[in-house]
Amino acid sequence: MDATTQRIFRFAPSPNGFLHVGHARSALINHDLARKTGGRFLLRIEDIDTGRTNADYEQAIYEDLAWLGLTWEEPVRRQSEHFGDYESALERLAADDLLFPCFCSRGDIARAVEGREGDWTRDPDGAPLYPGACRHLPEEEVRRRLAAGEFAARRIKIGQALAQAATLIGWREYGDADEPRDVRAEPGVWGDVVLSRKDVPASYHIAVVVDDALQGVTDVVRGVDLMPATSLHRLLQILLGYPAPTYRHHSLVLDEHGRKLSKSAGSKSLRALRAEGVSPQTIRRMAGLPAGIG
Ligand code: GLU
Repeated sequence: MDATTQRIFRFAPSPNGFLHVGHARSALINHDLARKTGGRFLLRIEDIDTGRTNADYEQAIYEDLAWLGLTWEEPVRRQSEHFGDYESALERLAADDLLFPCFCSRGDIARAVEGREGDWTRDPDGAPLYPGACRHLPEEEVRRRLAAGEFAARRIKIGQALAQAATLIGWREYGDADEPRDVRAEPGVWGDVVLSRKDVPASYHIAVVVDDALQGVTDVVRGVDLMPATSLHRLLQILLGYPAPTYRHHSLVLDEHGRKLSKSAGSKSLRALRAEGVSPQTIRRMAGLPAGIG
């Protein structure tokens, strides 16, 4: 297979906790598909939220993946090395007049929608859609507040962005199947979503889209819980002129209560299972995968 057709997969964990069986499922599916198709397998450490990530968790990711029998291409990619690339992408969107500065705190937004909770739409992450106070601030006021040292997040002008994309947005989706289907994107459900804020200069959405383009990722394989985000990612890819990867949002590993695994739900980490004597082959089975690397 030559370099132009070689498929590129990535596993992109955030080092803010220990990996659990749900992460193992994602990593193993990516790795197995790369093997099966003669593709490349990248590991990307999503450490953009520097306040919530740490080096011990990162080290644990390497150990746990190696224990599972995975190998990945060196060097490991890391988001913290690409702040400049994220900023360039944000500046391109700003140059197209697709961003606006927003001075609202979460509290301001909560107050603005107070009493309207029942009929106020929320985005797929559960945050209230931006009610719009800063969308129409006079330029003069924006300049004055920025000059006075007030920090502004940057939000996308979603209506304008959709108008500029001027196309039906969608993607090829495999899910858990062997054959893809076409999915229609609905980026509007995110409203004027934040693309950069004070503590995180590039949001997950902008970072992941820039990284996948930069690293030539052809196949994004991740949990179905991230499927709503893909609508927004496809919009950003179109606005930034990036190619469209193919997506596989695989089903999740659920606990005995039918909930997805998470640190907050007390799901056992891979290292805790390893300490109990569980083997990598058993983890594959717990992750819903056939024995042996496919
Ligand atoms: N870093 C994200 C997570 O750990 C995954 C992002 C992605 O695969 O696009 O949930």
